[in-house]
This record gives sequence, structure tokens and C-alpha cells, in this order.
Amino acid sequence: MVSISGFAQSEKDKTSETVNQATIKSHIGFLASDALRGRDTGSAELDIAAEYIKSRFVQYGVSTVEGMDSYFQNVPLRTLKPATSGTLTLAGDSFTLRDDFLLLEGGETLQGPMVFVDYGTTEDLEKGKIEGKIVVALCGDGTEQSPRAWFRISGEKRKQAKEMGALALVELYNSTQLPWSVLVRFLGGDQVGIDEEEESSLTHVWMNRSQDDLANLTKKKQTGSLSISGNEKIEFNSKNIVGYVEGTDPELKNEFVVYSAHYDHVGVGRADAEGDTIYNGARDNAVGTVTVLSAAENLAKYPTKRSALFVLFTAEEKGLIGSQYFIENSPIDPSQMVYCFNSDNGGYNDTSIATVIGLGRTTAEDMIKEACESFGLGVTDDPAPEQNLFDRSDNVRFAAKGIPAPTFGMGFTAFDAEITKYYHQPADEPETLDYDYLEKFFRSYVLSCRLIGNADETPFWTEGDKYFEAGKQLYNK
Ligand SMILES: [Zn+2]
Repeated sequence: MVSISGFAQSEKDKTSETVNQATIKSHIGFLASDALRGRDTGSAELDIAAEYIKSRFVQYGVSTVEGMDSYFQNVPLRTLKPATSGTLTLAGDSFTLRDDFLLLEGGETLQGPMVFVDYGTTEDLEKGKIEGKIVVALCGDGTEQSPRAWFRISGEKRKQAKEMGALALVELYNSTQLPWSVLVRFLGGDQVGIDEEEESSLTHVWMNRSQDDLANLTKKKQTGSLSISGNEKIEFNSKNIVGYVEGTDPELKNEFVVYSAHYDHVGVGRADAEGDTIYNGARDNAVGTVTVLSAAENLAKYPTKRSALFVLFTAEEKGLIGSQYFIENSPIDPSQMVYCFNSDNGGYNDTSIATVIGLGRTTAEDMIKEACESFGLGVTDDPAPEQNLFDRSDNVRFAAKGIPAPTFGMGFTAFDAEITKYYHQPADEPETLDYDYLEKFFRSYVLSCRLIGNADETPFWTEGDKYFEAGKQLYNK
């Protein structure tokens, strides 16, 4: 009888064979070099990073996936330059741009009847007979409390409202987590987003309104209008990168495990005390990019039973945009993606562990633990659940569809000075990394990939998880 540990041993050997410090160092050194100027979305240097990743895929023998004619998925983007002035009137009251409302999308001058539709669920929208109307809804869905989640949900809402013929969408914003003035700072500048086709774009604003003074807005037979000026839209293209290795098992190869990370960062910005203006993004997220490259090299050489999809996202730093575009325009149906093992990194302050956001939320927990322990690392789950990190990286795009999707990251135990020293700072340079630690870290990731890709049972959400029901629906369980 072959023992479990005997099997794990050979998987471990295969892992160590392809993952070593020299390779890791060369990848990170290039991707986080000053020459790539912080890999900002839309920059020529991010395209150079994309070419580098593609060139590695070619070297490793990673294929393009059926349905795509190259490794690159074009992501059409636009920058909205904010309006300089604007007025919104609703039910006779007049509101001012920035003080009272922000433009999220579109921005034509318009006028028409308005209708209040609660949270604007599909049902609400149908009941409201919204065609030709200014649709007024509350932000979110009534259960999610974080503005970040509201932002994500609002994209879906806009799409639906547009499909049903709405004239505009006004969402009423009221959050103690993120006061209006802070939101204006986040959303009041240039906004990068998916460049939606003219037919599916809809004027969309968030308005600063508390729930208590809705009375006027909910009265029947009201009208509204919007006039905006000074806003501008600049269109450009960016790329997600997608590679594929077919599984070896005649049945299980129909199941795809996604190994993903974002490869963009925040570019060039304000100088630090040393006068450095390049935000290199070694930790965030050259490291994540290289976890995926390491898995690609290893799995191309020693494929697992399940098929592998290696995906590098653009525009994560602009609001998880590359991953949003990927999941909505994927060459593989989401129901065939059985797991997404994402990697994203802000920094680390504990080299004895890997930190996996969502570790205990999927049944792959034991495999990930076993892999880390094989290379002498402990593994911990989210040290700061109040930060809601799980919903703040690309993995959430998959999770929201029902695909189990934790994020593998370098060890951290708290948001302390060791993290903030590098997080989104010019100091996040490749020379400041501990490569003895990184070797264990990358091997742990790749061995986890091997164990998940070969597991007899397909991993799933643990019972009762927030996304458990979405998963059951997606896979018809
Ligand atoms: Zn970041």
C-alpha cells in the first residue's frame, strides 16, 4: 500500500525541483525594477510586464486556452475625468456636485420622471416599471454593510437598470464606515473603469443622503433632472494574461483550477523622504505574480489531474477591474472553474508563516496546511477580519459567483509599522525581501496547487459560508 506521506513526498520533490531562489529573484527583480516604473494600469511599462509573463508561459510550455487566440485578453478601459460642475434636482430639491453627489458613470444632461425602488433588486426594478425613468435606489442590497461591496453591487444594478430601459440611476449613500467627505476623496478624482459599450452605459450617480429623509423622494409622480459639465472620457486598452495546462485525468480535466494574481501596481507618484517616486510594488504584487509563474512552470512540467488556468489581472489597484472583466468575459464557463487560488500581498511581518485569507472557508484548508508544513511554514487565516480583506482582492470576483477562492499571502499578524513601511510606498523594492523565506513561501504555494489539482474530492466552501449558497447554485449541487 502506498502511504499518504509517500505520495506527498514525491509531490514535494516535484515542487522543489522547479521552485528555487534564483528563479524567484530574477522574476521579482525584473517585475519590480525601476525600469517598469511601478506597473501602472495604462502605462507602457505594464505592457512590458505582460510581455515578460507571456514569454515565460512560452518558455514553460503553457498553452493558450481554447476560445482565445493569444495569451492576452484585451480589457477595454476608460478614465473618467471628473466633472467640474453639476446640478441634480430630485422632487423639487436641488443638489450640488461633490457636496451632495458624485458621478460614477455616463453624465449626459437629462430630465424625466423618477421612481424610488428600495434597494433596486431585480424584483424592485420590475415593480418600478423603470423604463424612461430616473431610478432612485438605496446603495447596496440591504445585507452588505461595506461601501466597497456596495460599489461592486452597484455595477450589477446599473447594468440591469440599463437593460430595463432606465434613463439614469441615482443611489442614495449613507455609511458610518466611510463618511461622504472620504468617499469624495476616493471617487472624486480620475476614475478608471471598464469601458462599457455605449449601449450598456448609463448615467449613474451616488448621492449623499441619509435614510431618514427619504419621504420626499418616495412620493409618487415626481420628476428629476441632471446637468453636468467638464467631464471627459479617455479610452484605452489593457491586458489580462491567461495560460492553460490541460489536466491528465480524463474526467477531472474538465474541472479548471484558477491560479491568479494581479500584476499591476500604482506607478509613479509622490516622492518619499529619499526622493524616490517609483512605487515598485515588489510585495504588491510582483510576489503574487511570481507565485502564479512558479505554479505555471511546475504544472506545465508535471500537470495535475485537473486542468490549470493561470490568470494575471490588470487594474486591480483601480478597483479589482481586470478580474471583474475576466469573470464576465471568461473563455471558460465559471461553472467549470472549481477553485480559484489567488495570491495578493501587502507585506509581511512574520517569516514563520503564510497567511491565507479565507483559509478556513474552503475544504482545501488541510491541503494548504500540509503544503506549508512540508516546507517548514505555519499557516494562519485572516489576522484582521474587521478589515474584510477577503472581499478586497480579486478573489472576491470569483467568490461572488460561487467559486471557492481564498487568497494566499506572505505571513502577517497585524497591520503594524513593518507593513505600512512598504505598503503602497516607493520603499517596496525587490532588494528588501527575504528570499530564504520566499523560497519556502513559493514552494508552499506550488505544493498547495499540486495537492488541490490532484485531490480526489473537489474542494468547496465550508458549510454555512457567506458564499456557500452561491456555490451550490453555480455547480448545481
Ligand atoms: Zn495594492
